[in-house]
Amino acid sequence: VTYFDHNASSPLLPVARTAWLDAEERFPGNPSSQHRIGARAERALDDARQRLARLLACAPEDVIWTSGATEACNTALQHAIASSPPHAELWVSAIEHPAVLATARTRVQERLRLIPVDAQGRVELEWVRENLPRARPALVAVMAANNETGVLQPWSEARELCAEHGVPYFCDATQWFGRLPGRRLGAAGFVAGSAHKFGGPRGVGFLACPPGSACRALLHGGGQQDGRRAGTENVAGVLALVAALEWSEQQLAAGGDRERREIRDRFERQLLAAVAGGRVNGAGADRLWNTSSVVLPAADCRQRLVVKLDKAGFAVSTGSACASGSERPSHVLTAMGLTAADASRAVRFSAGWLTPAEAWDELLAAIVRIQGETTASSAAATALQAPP
Ligand code: PLP
Repeated sequence: VTYFDHNASSPLLPVARTAWLDAEERFPGNPSSQHRIGARAERALDDARQRLARLLACAPEDVIWTSGATEACNTALQHAIASSPPHAELWVSAIEHPAVLATARTRVQERLRLIPVDAQGRVELEWVRENLPRARPALVAVMAANNETGVLQPWSEARELCAEHGVPYFCDATQWFGRLPGRRLGAAGFVAGSAHKFGGPRGVGFLACPPGSACRALLHGGGQQDGRRAGTENVAGVLALVAALEWSEQQLAAGGDRERREIRDRFERQLLAAVAGGRVNGAGADRLWNTSSVVLPAADCRQRLVVKLDKAGFAVSTGSACASGSERPSHVLTAMGLTAADASRAVRFSAGWLTPAEAWDELLAAIVRIQGETTASSAAATALQAPP
């Protein structure tokens, strides 16, 4: 099976696998234990924290290891809410992942305000600029890159606006890390990342906090991580996370993203030429080089196309991994102004660093063939139903 679902989970990179196995052997102890085996594991964690901090350009002590991005998002949101007056609102972009949107809804209910996006799926900064002088939300959340469309968000400008008004800022950078340089994100207020989106193992991630912030714990128990996150640290997972991110940053430094963006763009051009009436979501915006979200007109239902492509040997997605399996139209695409019918025909292709160019060509050929079959069978069905 050719894998085009890296935004859902990116298979373990060889460097991460090696780092994980090596760490499991070399650091079997609990980092909180007093003996030398424990101390060795603790030193390995400290070293990993420094390496991650270098990649993010933040201070090592501002990094909290978590079980993934969902926990990092929950931690940042509950901290901001608990640190604000009881009536403060939470401003969250309409296209955030459920890890942010559902958390915000659960915690503040009617005090949640959605920041709108334009037709390309970019957060409307003007809305933030106009509203910030009038209110003081507990937190503004604008993600770095959208998981469904790959559209890059104006997080840097949003961060500056928040800093001007003294409002905490949260950036869910889960889809950005490993695909674009993480360095500028280090000073972006609260920043969430997850290893399995960039070729590290599942079940490990991080939250980088603003300098010196005393982030409240979401999980209580042992006093690990200076009381900011209880639970024994996943030493091997953390070391594999850092190895995967360092490797990805090396690919970026060598310009590997440019060539891959061209391959993705060529795929989209050829697809639109071959499938009349198709469209690429967020085509007019800067997007992650690995992601292509398209609406294909002849597809009667996106899940059916996903199943047909699966049978043809391609793992693709309807969008957010969490929304798969439900027929509800994507909140991201409807926020961009797509009708529920169009949104229900959207499919997402997301590649990784190791996806070869030929895989995109083969995917294109499979889609064109399936689209042709679907069009032919629906034309036959229409002819059968037509009155004599
Ligand atoms: N945020 C974004 C943008 C995501 O794409 C995802 C996963 O799909 C998450 C958060 C949740 O990540 P995790 O699986 O690490 O909890």
